Amino acid sequence: MGVKYSSKINKIRTFALSLIFIGFFVMYAGIFFRTSPIVMTLFMILGLLFIIASTVVYFWIGMLSTKTVQVVCPSCNKVTKMLGRVDVCMYCNEPLTLDPTLEGKEFDEKYNRKTRNIKS
Ligand SMILES: [Zn+2]
Repeated sequence: MGVKYSSKINKIRTFALSLIFIGFFVMYAGIFFRTSPIVMTLFMILGLLFIIASTVVYFWIGMLSTKTVQVVCPSCNKVTKMLGRVDVCMYCNEPLTLDPTLEGKEFDEKYNRKTRNIKS
């Protein structure tokens, strides 16, 4: 698809994936120390900790996914998920906001203009 992911959840997902790679790399590095079982065991435990950490992060993503809000992007008209008040579109990186104060300002301006027109 050639999609440039940069929304919050995708950033965390990339972080979790890199933790797995680091974990496997550390465990693989431990093989070079097979002459001393203590060092090798330490590498294996450290690598395992990275993999455990990534599973925790993946679990966290699952928790966050339940809090995401589905919105239709005003720029590309695709349904995207956003986390928090401000996030970017998963497809076109359009900045999105759910901040009610920003929406309120826009509405107030239009409202004032209309009332002024009616009065004049
Ligand atoms: Zn978009």
